[in-house]
Parts: sequence; structure tokens; C-alpha cells
Amino acid sequence: MSMKIVAEHPGGADVLRAIDVEAGTPAKDEVLVRHTAIGVNFIDIYFRSGLYPWPVDKNLVLGSEAAGIIEAVGDGVSDFSIGDRVAYTIPNGAYAADRIVETRHLVALPDAVTDETAAASMLKGLTAHYLLHRSFRVEAGQTVLFHAAAGGVGLIAGQWLADKGVTAIGTAGGPEKCALARQNGYAHVIDYKNEDFVAQVQEITGGKGVDAVYDSVGKDTIAGSLKCLKTFGTLVNFGQSSGPALDFKLSDLAAGSFSVTRPVLFHFTADSAYLQTASKALFGMIEKGALKINVNQRFPLADAARAHRALETRKTTGSTILVP
Ligand code: NDP
Repeated sequence: MSMKIVAEHPGGADVLRAIDVEAGTPAKDEVLVRHTAIGVNFIDIYFRSGLYPWPVDKNLVLGSEAAGIIEAVGDGVSDFSIGDRVAYTIPNGAYAADRIVETRHLVALPDAVTDETAAASMLKGLTAHYLLHRSFRVEAGQTVLFHAAAGGVGLIAGQWLADKGVTAIGTAGGPEKCALARQNGYAHVIDYKNEDFVAQVQEITGGKGVDAVYDSVGKDTIAGSLKCLKTFGTLVNFGQSSGPALDFKLSDLAAGSFSVTRPVLFHFTADSAYLQTASKALFGMIEKGALKINVNQRFPLADAARAHRALETRKTTGSTILVP
């Protein structure tokens, strides 16, 4: 039997409960992975709350990234063997002691990357990768604004931007989070709970504005983010931790001939070649010491509800892990 954490129906953290189900046998091109570490992400909260549509009527197994060890392989599997250490990021199904995964979603873990690091960085690190290389391709010498800089994606992005020679301005809620962001690549950090981030960005850039804003906060920040862009700048909206920005209009872009994009990681990772290339780049950054993955919260898998409450009430920094 295999323990899984499900949301019985959309709602608050109290809809999460543990159930036992048959582990199952891998079919063609599938493997059974015993999880050693599972990542917690804001997308888990969007699914749990019902903001994102459910693929099932009830008992949705949450969780979109994990690492573990292959325990069984199905027919036709040649790239992976029993005992291999692997990780993956796909929507839902990861809050479980083990699960069956199609091999096209798997990446092999190098010795230098621990299971915990992989589970803390597959979804967040590949997100940082596509944001900086695909959504708005950053170049040395540019200046960008990155909201929620002390969060899971934020701490990875800050280090990656610094490695590329980009001046990163971060926002974070409160002095401790600001200090952490500063230690993780951000040249400037604005406490947007207590300061006007638009005025601060204008001051830092001498009134010019930034080349791009990466905004995952949504409702509370989008309008201000547009005011931080230089002419022809790009707004990358990749989340809505404070709620969806419902009053955004295309005509808002006319203020500076701005571009806007609203990307989703899984559209990029559906391409196996991209998944492997981006994972290699992510692990390469970790191996060369340019990127440290901050695992700042750990909970037993059975305590997933506690992890959710911490994340959605802004109590966490960096990555959060569930341990089966
Ligand atoms: P974080 O660790 O960044 O947590 C979210 C942070 O958002 C909080 O810690 C908080 O930081 C900030 N925040 C601001 N307002 C609120 C609010 N009202 N309620 C809660 N948090 C708020 O999460 P993740 O690293 O998991 O994800 C970061 C964002 O990126 C999320 O919005 C997520 O959905 C998005 N994302 C999108 C992907 C995509 O492909 N589109 C893929 C991965 C992530 P502070 O206290 O400093 O304000």
C-alpha cells in the first residue's frame, strides 16, 4: 500500500487528508518511484483552493515535484534502471510515498545534487530557467525587478540573475526576507510591505525604469509593476500569490509600448529536449557552486496541511520540503 495526501474537495488546508491506496505496477514506458523528498509549491495551493481547475472530481493528490529512487520498471524502459536516483516536475500526484511516472518526465540526478535539493528545485529552478532564458531573455548589464524575491522561485532567480551579470532588484515582505534576498543575488531589495516599490525602483534606476518585471504576486503588484518598466519593457506575469489581477487591460501596455507574457512551466517541460537541457543547466549551476538551493522548511508528508498554511500566510522563505 502507498500513503497519499489528497484534497477531498477544493477548499482550505483542512481539506487535506492521508489515504492508503495500492502502489500499482508500472506499465510500458513507466517506472515506480519511491519518493525521498517532495517539493511544496504555490501551485499546490491554487489547485487545493480550486483556483486552478481539477482534473478529477474529488480526492486530488496534490504536489508537482519530487525526487526518489526507481523501485520497478515497466516494459520498454531502457534509459532508467531499478536503483536510479531521479526527479521530475509534472502537475499533481507527488504528495505520496511513491507513484508511477512516465519516463519522459524523469531526469537522472548527478552525484552532486542530493534528492532533497532536486525536490526543492525541479519546479522552481526550471521556472527560473525559462523565465530568464525564454520569457524574457536577460542579458548582462540589464536591470530587472523580481517580486517575492525571498520565496522559492525568488531565491533561485536572484542567484541566477547575478551569475549572468544582471542587476536584480527584488521585493520582499519584511526586513528578514529582504536580508535573505540580498544574500541571494539581489543588488537592491525593497520591503514592499512598508515601502512604495514603484518610487524605489525609479530612484534606483535614475528614473529610467527596468528592462523587465517578473511578477508572480498578481493583484497587489501588477499595476505598480507596469509603472516600473522602461519604454518597450516586458512584464512577465507568472503567478498570483495575492490573487488574480482582474483589472488588467491590454490598453495598459500603451503607456510604454510594453510587452506582456503569462507563461506556464509545464508548456516548456512538455518538450523532453527542453526538460533535459534546462535540468542540465540547473544542475550545472548547483555543481559549480553558483546556485545554492535554500531548503528552509521541512515537514513530514502527513503534515502537508501545516506546510500549506505556512506558505499561504507568507511565513516561508526559499523552498519547502515534505519528507515521506
Ligand atoms: P513563494 O515561496 O514565492 O511564496 C509566495 C510568496 O509570495 C510569499 O512568500 C510572499 O512573499 C509573496 N506574497 C505576496 N503577497 C502574498 C499573499 N497575499 N499571500 C501569499 N503570498 C504572498 O512561492 P513559490 O516559489 O512556490 O512560487 C512563487 C510564485 O511563482 C507563485 O505565485 C507561483 O504560483 C508562481 N509560479 C509560477 C510558475 C509558472 O510556470 N507560471 C511556476 C512556479 C511558480 P513576501 O512575504 O515576501 O511578499
